[in-house]
Amino acid sequence: MTRQRKTILEIIKTSNEHMTAEEIYLKAKKVMPSIAMGTVYRNLGLMTEAGEIRRIPIPDSPDRYDKSVKPHEHMVCQECGEVHDVFIDGLLEYLRQSTGAEITGYDLNLRFICENCRRKDTIQGHR
Ligand SMILES: [Zn+2]
Ligand SMILES: [Zn+2]
Repeated sequence: MTRQRKTILEIIKTSNEHMTAEEIYLKAKKVMPSIAMGTVYRNLGLMTEAGEIRRIPIPDSPDRYDKSVKPHEHMVCQECGEVHDVFIDGLLEYLRQSTGAEITGYDLNLRFICENCRRKDTIQGHR
């Protein structure tokens, strides 16, 4: 494993966020000032293929990268774009049963308003 790849993986594995490639690049740059954006992209691709991390496509927004490769879904805050993990048991089984088809996968895009943004809305609403 190259030093760059190790650095990038380390950044993802120690973060609790779902970062974009650019956010990962900015963090990597602090450790390795000479690292190029292209290197970050290339390594993210390699690590996704190797199953070390997971790429989360988000509509109208850059892809995010997830340290957890365990099966789980994501919901995105409509206001601030924050990505949260959600665990829904038996969804694939449910989809198979209700369609009668051998569903092999799905992309679920859940949208919500996160705690922080909800609080902001309430405060503004009381003004
Ligand atoms: Zn929010
Ligand atoms: Zn996740």
